[in-house]
Amino acid sequence: MRYLKSLNKYFWKYRWRFLLGILFIIASNYFRILSPQVTGYVVNSVEEHLRDNREKEAGLKPSESDHLKLEKSEKREYDILVRVFITRIDLLKPSFGQKVGICGITLLVLALLGGFFMFLMRQTIIVMSRHIEYDQKNEVYGHYQRLDLNFFKTHSTGDMMSRIAEDVSRVRQFTGPAVMYLINLVAVIGFSLFFMIRKDPLLTLYVLAPLPILAITIYYVNNIIHKKSEHIQALLSDLTTNAQESYSGIRVIKSFVQEGAMYQFFQNNSEDYRKNAISLAKVESIYFPSMGLMIGLSTLLTIMIGGIYVIHGTHHTDIGTITEFVIYITMLMFPVSAIGWVASMTQRAAASQKRLNEFLNTEPKIDMPPHGLKKDIEGNIVFDQVGFTYPNTGIRALHRFSLQIKKGQKVAIVGKTGSGKTTLAQLLLRMYDPQEGKIEMDQKDLKEFDLKNLRNQISYVPQDVFLFSDTVSGNIRFGMGSGNEEEVRQAASYAAVEKEIQDFSSQFATLIGERGVTLSGGQKQRISIARALIKNPKVLLLDDCLSAIDANTEKEILSNLNSYLKDRTAIIITHRIFALFDFDLIVVLDEGEIVEKGTHRELMEKNGYYAYLYDLQQQKEE
Ligand code: ADP
Repeated sequence: MRYLKSLNKYFWKYRWRFLLGILFIIASNYFRILSPQVTGYVVNSVEEHLRDNREKEAGLKPSESDHLKLEKSEKREYDILVRVFITRIDLLKPSFGQKVGICGITLLVLALLGGFFMFLMRQTIIVMSRHIEYDQKNEVYGHYQRLDLNFFKTHSTGDMMSRIAEDVSRVRQFTGPAVMYLINLVAVIGFSLFFMIRKDPLLTLYVLAPLPILAITIYYVNNIIHKKSEHIQALLSDLTTNAQESYSGIRVIKSFVQEGAMYQFFQNNSEDYRKNAISLAKVESIYFPSMGLMIGLSTLLTIMIGGIYVIHGTHHTDIGTITEFVIYITMLMFPVSAIGWVASMTQRAAASQKRLNEFLNTEPKIDMPPHGLKKDIEGNIVFDQVGFTYPNTGIRALHRFSLQIKKGQKVAIVGKTGSGKTTLAQLLLRMYDPQEGKIEMDQKDLKEFDLKNLRNQISYVPQDVFLFSDTVSGNIRFGMGSGNEEEVRQAASYAAVEKEIQDFSSQFATLIGERGVTLSGGQKQRISIARALIKNPKVLLLDDCLSAIDANTEKEILSNLNSYLKDRTAIIITHRIFALFDFDLIVVLDEGEIVEKGTHRELMEKNGYYAYLYDLQQQKEE
């Protein structure tokens, strides 16, 4: 439950709305609680009327003084508003029919008032919960954005999605309906107990005798329901994951002819889910009837014990009181049966909030200096004895890596897969910080820079390109915010993809992804390159992003880059060697360490590892 404390800031933020909601709940219940009293009064009037008639028929004079005495003592037990109402009616001295008519209209007005305030109570409390949900979703999303890459590597997308969607919505079930029903419950119980005890404490005691049994039943049944529904939730999540994998891996499933096996697997999961869901439905089907039984028992006790009192004339109990009590009990039925629901909602919300707090309390490992350097960088980069080990796997990706890159230099990082090339790019973008050594940009430690300012001036094209479900143009100008059509076209032209885009049905306005065109791997890579080039970066980082591009297009892009890069610093990570591109420096990496460096000619003359890689590539291409 303590996890829900973190919601206090939201309740505080919406305190006035919340307070108003509470007032509306009280008002709604206040008007509803007056109906039993008016009904009791009417019933008593009817009974009196019948008695008078009987007495008249028997030729006796109605004993008025007795009546008045009784009425006065009775009136004191009603609510002040009802007392005023009765006094007014008595002053008017209406006929019996008129009296019943006025009471009927009053009951209708009371029901309308109760309903009106109930409407307002939903308008405030449920609306408040929607505001909280909105704030919380933004908070979680905003926090996701702040977290470092390691967090995303160690948490599955499904898990993150379920926290921002399902957990937030479960918390909303608490801040909205659960809180509303809880306050409502307190108000109904408070009001009815107050008037019941005031009217007849002993009868109240008898009537409420089954309540502890009810509470215990609710507690046990609710626990069972809670456990079962948790289990069902987990089964449902498995089922969804299973279905999702089947859809996304459909090509593999079909080519390995595993449709039958996958179907069987899904069916087994589904069967398990069905059995559990049915078992839950059975328990739930006991819940409400048992509640009804208890309430019925209370009603029975009221009529029986009240009836005995009336028959024996003891305890001042009259038929009106019995009627009043029966209505109170009926009014208690729904809120009391909702106790279990409220409890389980609260439990679930606490579990969800705990999961959310786990994320919200995770601090990004990359610390941002509060007043970081915000300046235009030139692109002089120094790696000084840099060592980096991935914290989650303990794999050492870089070891004593030292390299100087001057402004405007074009450097190639060559090596086999797994030699640490991508890690270098990640460190330069400060996705991670090195554990050993340091990286400098323009003679200043990278950590001194304002992170956003730094990343804004470095363009990065990752190995596994990612495009958004947006237009081609939207994807290219992603990092820009603005960027006019001409700039977009120019960038696409540098990336040698413009011609193909012009052939699309809506050219640059063509949608990419499920709702639009499906692009080839090479097209995606080139659009990503265009996205990096349009940013006009000081440093360009290309991470093996020409792998799906044919040799001719590759040549075109490289020659375009030659003119585009001019005085920009460029680091081109590749497992292929581009002999035609005039690199100032080629660094050969193996197992996180530099094994060779120099220009293409120097390295070929050296006839070492680089020359070996190059020969291997030539042989393959031939
Ligand atoms: P390259 O880009 O040369 O293929 P990487 O820099 O991606 O190499 O990887 C270097 C080493 O670090 C590899 O052994 C790889 O398995 C490991 N590695 C890469 N990324 C991660 C990660 N996010 N978590 C743990 N280990 C990683």
